[in-house]
This record gives sequence, C-alpha cells and structure tokens, in this order.
Amino acid sequence: MDIANPSDEHNMLRQMVRDFVSEYVEPQALEHDKKEIFNHQLFRQLGDLGLLGLTVSEDYGGASMDATAVTIVHEELSSSDPGFALAYLAHSLLFVNNLEFNGSAEQKERILPKVCSGEWIGAMAMSEPDTGTDVLGLTTSASKNNDGTWTLNGRKMWITNGCIDDHGTPADVVWVYARTGTDAKGRAQISTFLVENGMRGYSVGQKILDKTGMRASNTAELVFQDCIVPDTNLVGDAGDSMIHMMGNLEIERLGLAAMSLGIARRSLHEMNKYASERVAFGKEIRNFGQIQRYIGESWAKYRAMRAYIYDTANSLSLGETGQRLDSDGVKLFATTAAKEIADAAIQVMGGYGYVSEYVVERLWRDSKLLEIGGGTIESHQKNITRDLSKSPESITN
Ligand SMILES: Cc1cc2nc3c(=O)[nH]c(=O)nc-3n(C[C@H](O)[C@H](O)[C@H](O)COP(=O)(O)OP(=O)(O)OC[C@H]3O[C@@H](n4cnc5c(N)ncnc54)[C@H](O)[C@@H]3O)c2cc1C
Repeated sequence: MDIANPSDEHNMLRQMVRDFVSEYVEPQALEHDKKEIFNHQLFRQLGDLGLLGLTVSEDYGGASMDATAVTIVHEELSSSDPGFALAYLAHSLLFVNNLEFNGSAEQKERILPKVCSGEWIGAMAMSEPDTGTDVLGLTTSASKNNDGTWTLNGRKMWITNGCIDDHGTPADVVWVYARTGTDAKGRAQISTFLVENGMRGYSVGQKILDKTGMRASNTAELVFQDCIVPDTNLVGDAGDSMIHMMGNLEIERLGLAAMSLGIARRSLHEMNKYASERVAFGKEIRNFGQIQRYIGESWAKYRAMRAYIYDTANSLSLGETGQRLDSDGVKLFATTAAKEIADAAIQVMGGYGYVSEYVVERLWRDSKLLEIGGGTIESHQKNITRDLSKSPESITN
C-alpha cells in the first residue's frame, strides 16, 4: 500500500490538486510573496474544486473526506506556495473543520455553505498580543447582557486571514476564543463566538507587514471593542471550549506538518536537479562528497517525515481528541526537518539558491513559521513529555 495515497480517491485528489498547483498556484507564488498580498481570487477557485470544505459533510456543501485527504492537499499546495497554503489551512481547518465538528445544526446550516464555496473567508483567533503558548492566560472577555446577547472586548494578534485585503476588511467570519469566567480552581473558562463582518465593534487593528515568510497570507491584529454578538453565535455551552480547542489543534498540527512535507519535497527536488546541472572543477557538483551529504541526508529526512506524517494521518479521526502525542510529534519533527532541507537546498545551489527566482529561499523563509505557529516546537516537546509520562506504553506498543 502507498501510505501517502491509500485509496483511489486519495490518488485522484492528489492528482487534481497537483494539476491545479502547476497551472494556477506556481505562476503567481513569487509575485504574491514579493508584494505581500493574498490571492483572494485564486482562493475562491479552491471552493469550486470542493477543497474549502474538504472535511465537511456533503449536506453542507463539503466533500466529507478524512485526515489523509487534508494532509495531501496541504502537502501539494505548500510544495509551491506555503503562504497560500497557510491561508487555506486557517480557513479550512481552523475555521471550517472546527465548525463542522463543534457547531450547532443552525450554525452549520447558515455558515458552512458560505465558507465551503469561498463566498466567505474564515479565520480563527486564539493568540493575543500578550498571550500565545500560555493560552489560558487570554484576556479577551465576553459577558452576557440582559437581552441574551454577548459583549466581547479584547485584541487578537497574528490572525491568519484576519484581514482579507489591504483596506482593513476583516475576515467574513472569525472563530473567537474568549474568557467567560473563572472556575473554582482559578482557571479561565473559555468560550467560542462566531463573529461576523458587520457586527458592531469588530474591526482590523492592523495588517502585520514585513513578515519573514508566509507573505502571501494576510496576518492581522483584530479588535473587539464592545462587540455585540448574538447568543446564537455562541458555539456549544459557555465555558466548554477547551475540549474543542485542543481537538482542533490536533488536525491543525497535522496540516502544518503536511505543509512542511511539501516544502521538504520541493527543496529536495530543486537541489537534486541543480546538482546535475551545475559543473565545478570539471564535474557535476553531485560528485562532491559534501554535496552528497546534503542530498543524502535530506532524502532520508524527507522519507522519514513522509512515513510518520501519513502514518499519523491514516489513523487520526477528525472531530476527536486524545491524538496529541503524534499530532505534536509530526509537527515537532517535520517543521525543523523542512527548515533544514530548505537550508541544504540553498547551500547546494550556492548564490542562485539565495535569490527568489530559484524558489528555495522563499521556502526556507516560509518554513521558519512552522516552528512557531500552531504551537511552538517547545510546546510540542512539553506536551510529548507530559503525554509519555501518562502513557509510557505508547513507546513499546
Ligand atoms: C504568521 C503567523 C500566523 C499566525 N496565525 C495565527 C492564527 O491564525 N490564529 C492564532 O490564534 N494565532 C496565530 N499565530 C500565533 C501563533 O500561534 C503564536 O505566535 C504561537 O502560538 C506562539 O505564541 P507567541 O508568539 O505569543 O510566543 P510565546 O508563547 O510568548 O513564546 C515565546 C517563546 O517562549 C517559549 N515558551 C513559552 N512557554 C513555554 C514553556 N512553558 N516552556 C518552554 N518554552 C516556552 C516559546 O516556545 C517561544 O520560544 C500566528 C503567528 C504567526 C507568526
């Protein structure tokens, strides 16, 4: 069995995305990175292909596919344009998949068809200016009003798709985590609100410019100032969001690992090609031992990433929790491996590797974000060590 294409359906999906990438994504990738702009129009085309609601039930306009399909799409998009792939991840996993598995029937009926088609662009807002890894320290608050509505106050930072253009237009809909109380042990009670463009008090604070990489995705600060949200936009019960927050982080981390795989594959492809084309001292540079070390080690790392990522994808159940050991494990291993492979590609390609036309410098810049976003590599080390103390049998099973 091909672990990365376990069924005909997966194979067809990969081929379809690969064709789309070579025809439409690759030609625009360099320009959008340079200009630091999100390709909104191209993004909508993903809706026509059925990719924006990949994990959503067909009743709501989705494709009802699994975690392996998620991995395939992220790998393929990222092999060409990781910034565009990050915007896709923020929409399709952080917003759409979260709503599919945690929203009410009414919320799903009303919102999922719009986000599956690409009519609306979604985002997820967890991080804040003063809180990232320490998520329970978030200070954005929501309090219930006498008329049943909620008032949100606070700022969210680093939100992918938080704005959709350079004119301050916020995401059409954003999944916002807010504090609605404190439990008996003094821990924050976290609740989720669906905030829609046009709701009073919801705006873009700033588009964050001059990022190292992922420049083809928009990153924004969002402001909620006395923002009024109807009770129908509360997801689940007040205070019970930790469980779906943790569950959705698992598929997010797999998606980010898959993006790393796309970067690694492309970097390896570029360095391998160049090593045959470039001649020095009368020989193709692939004949030199030090170049062989870069290519050989990159190949082995790439194959190890691919095996671990697809092994995890093939057994990850969407909408469930408790799979963190490997969702953190693949992200911990693959993000750093991708950065190292992109770095090796630049080294093999010498001066050419250092300029944008040859792609790998962009992949190298983009790869760094994957060690930070969706949980830093230090948080994965912490989680894995904690989980292995609870289930040491995972090592020997
Ligand atoms: C381009 C981009 C896009 C993003 N998109 C989104 C998005 O769509 N939605 C969203 O909610 N967030 C998003 N983020 C935020 C991202 O998830 C956070 O940056 C990340 O979780 C880290 O938080 P922080 O930046 O506050 O760093 P901090 O949490 O302050 O960490 C700083 C350093 O301290 C370390 N550290 C912290 N706690 C510990 C500990 N207990 N043990 C050891 N080390 C520790 C960290 O690992 C890190 O090295 C995005 C970020 C970027 C840059």
